[in-house]
Amino acid sequence: MDLSTHAFFEGQIVPWSEAKINIATHGFMYGTSVFSGMRGYWNAEKKKLFVFRPFDHYRRLLNSARMMAMEIPYDEESLIELTLTLLRTDSWQEDVYLRPVVYKADMGIGVRLHNLRDDFCMFVMPFGKYVSNDTNAHVTFSSWKRIDDNVIPARGKIAGAYANSALIKTDANRAGFDEALALDSHGHVSEGSAMNVFMVRDGVLITPPVTDNILEGITRRSIMELAKNELGLEVLERSIDRTEVFIAEEIFMTGTAAQVVAVTKVDHRPIGSGAMGAMTTQLRELFDTVVRADHPKYRHWNLEV
Ligand code: PMP
Repeated sequence: MDLSTHAFFEGQIVPWSEAKINIATHGFMYGTSVFSGMRGYWNAEKKKLFVFRPFDHYRRLLNSARMMAMEIPYDEESLIELTLTLLRTDSWQEDVYLRPVVYKADMGIGVRLHNLRDDFCMFVMPFGKYVSNDTNAHVTFSSWKRIDDNVIPARGKIAGAYANSALIKTDANRAGFDEALALDSHGHVSEGSAMNVFMVRDGVLITPPVTDNILEGITRRSIMELAKNELGLEVLERSIDRTEVFIAEEIFMTGTAAQVVAVTKVDHRPIGSGAMGAMTTQLRELFDTVVRADHPKYRHWNLEV
């Protein structure tokens, strides 16, 4: 990684190479940190960088922090201000990924959440595609279950919970798949390692509800709104069974890093025609227009840097 740019660390902007935590830091040892992943999109025509839905990302980050009994002296607005300052420090002119983290910053041994100091840090890096096969991904059902709300809340973006995502992703990749779908403890489809899932059945767009152990994705929310408003689709949040996936007309997955990934095969079974479907194609195009601040109706989702 190129560390020649800046990061926010211990209350100030510093050269990224100097943003170092101690090996005894609680958040590092016990996974007691929460994070967010946002994208900044460079619009070459407008010659401007736009961050996608930062308020929503920070709202979710602060909610994740609340679940983990963390307190930081920032609200959504002050985090947005800080983000603008950091991005302007390095005058980014390309697509970037932003990683804000709230973490248990004290050092020492002892598993708990209380009586520990919390801190906030953030870095920015150039970022392109996350899933290379994003128009014809081959996905498998993971043998790993999605963590349950009563184990580690999936609705929080909690660092320790990403051990579950990493198991899901690595086993899928090593078996030759692009990504995996995890089932929850009730056997319902929850989500991928770092993306939500949608299926089209009988022309209706369906995605698991927030009570099926998913991260409440901001891309998910955006796609639901775009599908309803712009494509006039019926959108349903309901539990999805494993075998419904095989007989769906279209499957796609969504996430900040992943954006909109067309899934054309699941466990060697072609989905629909076996090629990227019409709704997925339209939603991908629409989403790209929206995130780059080229859709006037959704400009309030784009923060100009
Ligand atoms: N689920 C998980 C487990 C994730 O890590 C992510 C990525 N943040 C998502 C879903 C998608 O969420 P979002 O659209 O907010 O990036």
